[in-house]
Amino acid sequence: MDDRQFRNAMGKFATGVTVVATEVDSKVHGMTANAFMSVSLNPKLVVVSIAEKAQMLEKIYQSGKFSVNILAANQQELSMIFAGQVKNHQDVEFDQLGGVPVLPGAVVQITCEVTASHVEGDHTLFIGKVTNIQLEDSEPLIYYSGNYRLLAEG
Ligand code: FAD
Ligand code: NAD
Repeated sequence: MDDRQFRNAMGKFATGVTVVATEVDSKVHGMTANAFMSVSLNPKLVVVSIAEKAQMLEKIYQSGKFSVNILAANQQELSMIFAGQVKNHQDVEFDQLGGVPVLPGAVVQITCEVTASHVEGDHTLFIGKVTNIQLEDSEPLIYYSGNYRLLAEG
């Protein structure tokens, strides 16, 4: 099985888009991620999967905290910025929620403390214990087959 077939198949799983953010030495680092999942209700746990080559990996190990910001329908450009697909972009302002940087305008801001990390293949799974949640009543951005989409009524 080649990589393209795997990616084409995984791309058929429609997801939202998040920006994972953390802060090290007073510097905020953000990264676009769709490998995000709810894990447990009691205790409240989520997971993100971070590539071994991503700058974000070491930053989360250092800070022990991260936020997951579920992007709104009008935040495609931020997804592209934090995936390294837009060069020479403007500075992006972050808010703080319980001492963790969060992205303004996101549909949901979730802050977490890392409780475990698991290296699996070329990614690391970070389990985050949820410390704060802020929810907006807005529509999410969708990612499907390598393209951005908007939700439609069924
Ligand atoms: P860099 O590539 O150095 O940084 C990412 C970009 O964010 C750079 O352009 C940088 O300028 C900008 N940036 C960072 N911090 C700030 C800041 N404070 N202010 C302004 N700009 C800033 N990879 C995964 O490992 N897991 C996933 O689940 C995942 N899902 C993805 C989903 C989608 C839809 C896309 C498009 C990509 C996904 N990726 C995922 C790939 C990942 O987003 C990119 O490889 C990303 O470039 C890796 O970031 P990095 O931490 O190596 O940092
Ligand atoms: P793509 O066709 O590369 O990806 C489609 C799907 O395949 C993704 O949604 C994801 O589920 C999976 N995938 C892609 N690259 C992966 C990787 N390195 N490890 C594990 N799963 C992976 O889609 P695209 O829109 O061309 O992606 C843009 C860029 O973002 C590519 O460089 C891609 O590798 C990267 N990306 C990485 C991940 C990830 O690391 N989990 C997820 C999505 C996209």
